[in-house]
Amino acid sequence: MIVLSGGTGTPKLIQGLRKLVADEEITVIVNTAEDITVSGNHVSPDVDTVLYLFSGQLDDTKWWGIKNDTFHTNNALQRMSFNEKLMLGDADRATCIFRTELMRNGANLTEATQKLSSGLGIKASILPMCDEKVDTMVNTPQERMHFQDFWVGAHGEPEVLDVRISGIEKAKPTKEVLAALESEDNVIIGPSNPITSIGPILALKGMRDILRKKKVLAISPIIGNAPVSGPAGKLMKTCGFPVSSIGVAECYGDILDFMVIDEKDTVDENDFTVKVFKCDTLMTSVEKSEALAQRVLDLLGDIR
Ligand code: GDP
Repeated sequence: MIVLSGGTGTPKLIQGLRKLVADEEITVIVNTAEDITVSGNHVSPDVDTVLYLFSGQLDDTKWWGIKNDTFHTNNALQRMSFNEKLMLGDADRATCIFRTELMRNGANLTEATQKLSSGLGIKASILPMCDEKVDTMVNTPQERMHFQDFWVGAHGEPEVLDVRISGIEKAKPTKEVLAALESEDNVIIGPSNPITSIGPILALKGMRDILRKKKVLAISPIIGNAPVSGPAGKLMKTCGFPVSSIGVAECYGDILDFMVIDEKDTVDENDFTVKVFKCDTLMTSVEKSEALAQRVLDLLGDIR
């Protein structure tokens, strides 16, 4: 089972999927274009959320960080007037210190993630989308800024003129990602931000060509005319897509075979070029995540 993921909507789906499928059978290909260096440490926010989900540590009220984490280091730095770009909890920071140390000693991001995974006793395969450095950058009327500076630092408020993924021309799926895709016919694109979370994965060299040959099912992160959370609506609009599940399908284009949209969505199913299924996609509890995951598995079973 292969799932393409960002750091909030798709991890919610995976939380339900884990009730139905053994972790060993789940491979998650994770966005790394939001990675950022914080106080010298490599933070991989989406990878870390997935690591914490599978190791049972995730704070699933916020969908980032470790539950009951403390913030002593961050607070101590603030007392000295040093404000970090991201709020890193102490245990969360330990993950990033370990990753950075591994990478300083020659590991690539995939190898470092494998080491973290096995250290945390994770059975699923968590694969960063690529090992090259790629950065989602947003252009505002004032400046060009890293996505994290826009979303966390500036609270997503500035007007966005365009979104670019710096370094993507040289980035390719890792050999581990290619091997995983080689061995699976079905791919699930979870309900993640199509511009900043799934967009970078699809923009990797050759990725769309590979996915075009697979059965790809996507779940819309947009219900009606708004995302459930986050800046997907604003960024889709900037990139010229309608803010709707049809817009999400347009972002994915010809790699997509099936689209799951919310039962409350009033869009005309005939406006899609792919087959559409409707169900409750709002995952406000683990039970609801499991029900959606079950629906997705049923659909893939039928589609197979
Ligand atoms: P990020 O890396 O934190 O931006 O996280 P993702 O890209 O993985 O997830 C953000 C997207 O998840 C947003 O566009 C939300 O609309 C979507 N999302 C969050 N919760 C839900 C949910 O319960 N149902 C659906 N359909 N989408 C959701």
